[in-house]
Order: sequence, then C-alpha cells, then structure tokens
Amino acid sequence: MNIILLGPPGAGKGTQARIIEKSYGMVQLSTGDMLRAAVAAGSEVGQRAKAVMESGGLVSDEIVIGIISDRIDEPDCAKGFILDGFPRTLGQAAALETLLQSKGIKLDAVIEMRVDDEKLVERITGRYTCGACGEGYHDTFRTPKVEGVCDNCGASDFKRRADDNEETLRARLLAYYKETSPLLGYYFAKDNLVSIDGMAEMSEVTNQLKSILNDGAN
Ligand code: ADP
Ligand code: ADP
Ligand code: ZN
Repeated sequence: MNIILLGPPGAGKGTQARIIEKSYGMVQLSTGDMLRAAVAAGSEVGQRAKAVMESGGLVSDEIVIGIISDRIDEPDCAKGFILDGFPRTLGQAAALETLLQSKGIKLDAVIEMRVDDEKLVERITGRYTCGACGEGYHDTFRTPKVEGVCDNCGASDFKRRADDNEETLRARLLAYYKETSPLLGYYFAKDNLVSIDGMAEMSEVTNQLKSILNDGAN
C-alpha cells in the first residue's frame, strides 16, 4: 500500500510512520528528515533549505518535489511507502499525482491525523529523538524505559530540533493552515481521505491506522 499521513507539526506522523514501517515492511518517506540530512551534509539543497527551515517556513516546491521524485524511484519503495510531511502544498499534491501516474503507482489512502492545536504546542516543545537511531521520545508522553538510554538501540545521546520551540512552531502552524490544510479538501474531493483521532494514545492511533491498512489490503 502507498499512503500519505497528513497533519500539523506534532500530529504524530513520524511516530506512527516508524511503527508502520516496521510492522508492514513499508518505507517511511519523510521530506523533513531528508532535508535535515541535506542541511547536515551541507549539500546544495541543504544550503538552500537551511534558513527557511529555521524560520518555520516551507522549502520551495521545486526542491521537495525533486527529492521525492528521486526517492520514489529507489527499489525499496516498491514494498509500499508512507509519505510523512509531503505533500504540503496544492502544487506538491498536483506534482505527486502526475509523478505517480507516470510511474503507474497507485495512492491507496490519505490519512488525516486530527489533533487539537493546544496539544501540538505541548507535543512539539517536549519532543526529542535518539541521535543514533532516530527513535522518537517525549518529555512527558514517551520517556525511555531506562532514563537517558534509548529503548531501541541503547545509545545515550539524544537531540532536540532547533525548530521545535514555541515561536517557530507558531510559524510552522501558520504554514500548515495556509498552505497544507487545503489538501484536506483536495483529497476529500478525490474520495481518498480518511480521518483518524490523533489525540488518542500512541498505541490506539496505531490500531486505527492498522485497521485502515488491513481493510485496504483485502
Ligand atoms: P510529527 O511527525 O507529526 O511532527 P511526531 O510523531 O514527531 O509528530 O510527534 C511529536 C511528539 O509527540 C513526539 O515527541 C512524540 O513522542 C509525541 N507523540 C506522538 N504521538 C503521540 C500520542 N498519540 N500521544 C502523545 N504523544 C505523542
Ligand atoms: P513537522 O512535521 O514536525 O512539522 P518536518 O520534519 O516534516 O516537521 O519538517 C520540518 C521542516 O522542513 C518544515 O518546517 C519545512 O521547513 C521543511 N519541509 C519538510 N517537508 C516539506 C515539504 N513537503 N514542503 C516544504 N517544506 C518542507
Ligand atoms: Zn536509539
């Protein structure tokens, strides 16, 4: 199956994509992760994206469409993919449609993860990840079983994103409501949209997603 996870920053897209990736053998395609890797590597794309990402704005359609188009051609995507953080504008959605059509790939579902705005602030400001394996944690909602040690890989070096502060989050939320939320109408009109309750506990959100994936597989 090929799906899109749609939702504001902090909705739980990355958390769920990693779980689904493991249990369904699908691949997570996170444009945010790809862009952060480009910034860290100092590539041309990274240099163009860095300042925009720091301010909480959106990187140009041209850059992210290029990244996704290359990535979808890699053989592991044939197992099915989970788009996490892409598309984020109507232009990206239209480009994705053309791209998938030209490659003969079907999009099975667009899944909206609904979370109240006040909750997003709490989720984002408490978010951190394992520096070694990328496992996601939260100061309150998901702490490691042994303090300071990653459950997944045993590493003890954690990091926080520079843009995960309340001020930048406001800019990211504004970008979400202005540029990305119209995609909900777009995919609803195409009869592709399913909404789930992203406020529920992580395991419960996973169950909602699994029931959509299992239905689609039948
Ligand atoms: P997104 O990728 O949509 O920006 P994340 O998956 O990174 O969001 O989640 C943001 C933060 O909220 C992380 O710290 C994560 O551990 C936490 N989180 C994710 N899902 C839930 C949930 N259902 N309940 C509580 N906290 C959650
Ligand atoms: P989150 O889901 O937590 O908001 P992401 O990791 O998806 O964050 O994205 C981080 C930043 O990377 C965004 O604020 C934006 O600057 C940039 N970015 C990621 N994906 C896209 C995209 N599809 N289009 C434009 N900019 C993007
Ligand atoms: Zn780890």
